[in-house]
Amino acid sequence: MSVKTKILLVYTGGTIGMVKDYNSGALKAFNFNNLMNSIPELKQLDCSVDSVSFKEPIDSSNMNLAHWVSIATIIEENYDAFDGFVVLHGSDTMSYSASALSYMLENLNKPVILTGSQLPIGDLRTDAKENLITSIQIAALRQNNKAVIQEVCLYFEYKLYRGNRTTKINAEHFEAFASLNYPELAESGVHLKINKEYLRKTKSKKQLKVHKQLNDDVVILKLFPGLNKNVLESVLNIPNLKALVLETYGAGNAPTDKWFLKGIKEAIKNGLYIVNVTQCSGGSVLLGQYETSEELESLQIINGKDITTEAAVTKLMYLLGIGVSPKLFKTLFETPIRGEMQ
Ligand code: ASP
Repeated sequence: MSVKTKILLVYTGGTIGMVKDYNSGALKAFNFNNLMNSIPELKQLDCSVDSVSFKEPIDSSNMNLAHWVSIATIIEENYDAFDGFVVLHGSDTMSYSASALSYMLENLNKPVILTGSQLPIGDLRTDAKENLITSIQIAALRQNNKAVIQEVCLYFEYKLYRGNRTTKINAEHFEAFASLNYPELAESGVHLKINKEYLRKTKSKKQLKVHKQLNDDVVILKLFPGLNKNVLESVLNIPNLKALVLETYGAGNAPTDKWFLKGIKEAIKNGLYIVNVTQCSGGSVLLGQYETSEELESLQIINGKDITTEAAVTKLMYLLGIGVSPKLFKTLFETPIRGEMQ
């Protein structure tokens, strides 16, 4: 008798498991058991599905570091007993969580697939069923007795993405996510098409190592014409601040005003890590391409290349958490560790 592939569903909350409060009209989280009852199709799958739920499911706008540790711990404690994991999560902060988990789960060689939906599972036109069922099918894919997917992914509206390459781009469309700097890992149509050449291949036989120390002394500052000295100084002087993601223009460009460059220069000199990330949804920082980024390069700003803001801010939390030394910090940040940048 063949042994069935075992998938663990981890329900954290989000629209996928929400119901309408008919008095107020607002969506609120409901009991996970209802979700299982709402999809009898789950019983038809050729794998066994167990589930575990957050005691109090959350709207993902309430996601935080402690919740990431909870998800990672559930995966760690069930790692040997299951072949793959599907994490049900609100779409609002799903790209942040997928990025954080990708760093936290070192040596991952099983699939961890985050999914959710734009419409609640009970809604007539829901996108939840397809997202959930296909995520489970993808998590259960095996070849030569090994998982086909061995990384943290995000599945939404017929597409599987590398999780730390995604961004939520639409609050209404079913196609809510994009991965503009990395191709889709799989597409679901009549057939499930896996783009094998883009998958992360884990050669190492090392044990899963779960990193639970994350540091939240970080901030994101998006440049805009009119950003004034007061604002910059207030941000740079946040007590205890360790790292800043600077969302610059285009290919990594920023104003050349003396006060601006002086502020950045002094902050870096005083030990603040500043990462240059483009505020464009796609493309890469190319330091030195324009005069407006030359100076930043000479100040030893960290080059975020084509990383997303979500993957950058969580990478900072992770690198600060594991205690990377100041000497190595820039080099390590600029090196891809989970396929999050070129
Ligand atoms: N506000 C919801 C959440 O992120 C939206 C969703 O589930 O897609 O939890």
